[in-house]
Amino acid sequence: MDRFHALVIGGGGTGAAVAHDLTLRGLQVTLVERGELTSGTTGRHHGLLHSGARYAVKDQESAIECIEENLILRRIAPGTFEENDGLFVAIDDEDVAYSHEFVEGCQECGIPVRRLSREQTLRLEPNLNPALQMAVQVPDATMDAMRMPLRFFATAKHNGAVIKPFTEVVDFIKYGSAVSGVRVHDLTNDKVYEIKADIVINAGGPWSGKISHMVDVDVPIRPSPGVMLAVRGRLCNMVVNRLHRSGDGDIIVPQRGLSVVGTSSWVVDDPDDLGVPEEHVQLMLEKGSELIPQVKTAPFRGVWSAARPLIGPRGADTGRELSRTFKCFDHADEGVEGFVTITGGKATTLRGMAEAAANVVCQKLGVNAPCRTREVVLLPHAAYYG
Ligand SMILES: Cc1cc2nc3c(=O)[nH]c(=O)nc-3n(C[C@H](O)[C@H](O)[C@H](O)COP(=O)(O)OP(=O)(O)OC[C@H]3O[C@@H](n4cnc5c(N)ncnc54)[C@H](O)[C@@H]3O)c2cc1C
Repeated sequence: MDRFHALVIGGGGTGAAVAHDLTLRGLQVTLVERGELTSGTTGRHHGLLHSGARYAVKDQESAIECIEENLILRRIAPGTFEENDGLFVAIDDEDVAYSHEFVEGCQECGIPVRRLSREQTLRLEPNLNPALQMAVQVPDATMDAMRMPLRFFATAKHNGAVIKPFTEVVDFIKYGSAVSGVRVHDLTNDKVYEIKADIVINAGGPWSGKISHMVDVDVPIRPSPGVMLAVRGRLCNMVVNRLHRSGDGDIIVPQRGLSVVGTSSWVVDDPDDLGVPEEHVQLMLEKGSELIPQVKTAPFRGVWSAARPLIGPRGADTGRELSRTFKCFDHADEGVEGFVTITGGKATTLRGMAEAAANVVCQKLGVNAPCRTREVVLLPHAAYYG
């Protein structure tokens, strides 16, 4: 049996950043992940470091979080991002009409924008639909979905955190109404054992509802999957978005020698049961080719799905209507001490989510240590294995 100050459940980007933050604040931290690190949503997302522009009209809280964290991540994780920027491309008159609202929203959120003519846009990205009318350039970027959070894991491990992949939480240990640890199943040797901790942090992303149910606490999480499709060839060098209200198949992210088209959105009860609906694959091809016609003819490479951890009430329809912001829940409010959940958000906002959770954790444990993750430069991803 081990004993720690803090135990983090979930080895996605959020858990990685929480382990990093708490370790820097001087806590003894362990993190358990049921699969390989980033095997949940984190390792399967689109790979877009959001500028926030996508949310600047209808979800400004999330847009502001994205631009703030975008700038911080570029500083603390140098070399991790392709600093390629993003284009929001207007194809039809309706898109052009939306561009005014869009530019205004970006300006309100502090997102730098540059209007481009049709000719300027095609000079930057010659494979775009030649029918396009104009575009807006924003500071989006491409990232490697696994390597970026691996830098948080590497730094946390270097500072003393004990990271345990293939270790699944199967139950909680309670002392009265307080959580005092978890029971885990080590999937590498089929052993079940206990880990004690002063506080347990649920960073289970779309699984955070399932995890919290083990202690009869409800987290209002709506797992919302999306399908992504990869074709061979780098059809664009910048991140390309359709300039309209967020919809299906309206983003193309260049990832090394591939182009990844995404995404769709629906809502499920169980994040372990997603599937890849065939009609969504067709939708990615249809809608993606409105932005870059070659999407339809380029050699097909693969499709997959992953579930967003969105916060919202039951009854949500497609997930598009739910905010991308994040929230930290102190479950003492529902009568369970020693248990905190951090969920929602984006891969882009992992550091900010961790700061919010670590502030709550430190306040509960009486630890008076400021957050240092805005300044500390992360180790390279390969240092995790060193
Ligand atoms: C289709 C799609 C595209 C996206 N594209 C982008 C994008 O381009 N840019 C961006 O910023 N964001 C994007 N997102 C959002 C982003 O991927 C997520 O917000 C983020 O990855 C969530 O990270 P997380 O660590 O909170 O959750 P996860 O990465 O899901 O981590 C939770 C972990 O908990 C583990 N777990 C579950 N149960 C247990 C248990 N009992 N015991 C131990 N471990 C357990 C899981 O295995 C999982 O690894 C996208 C999301 C989707 C669905």
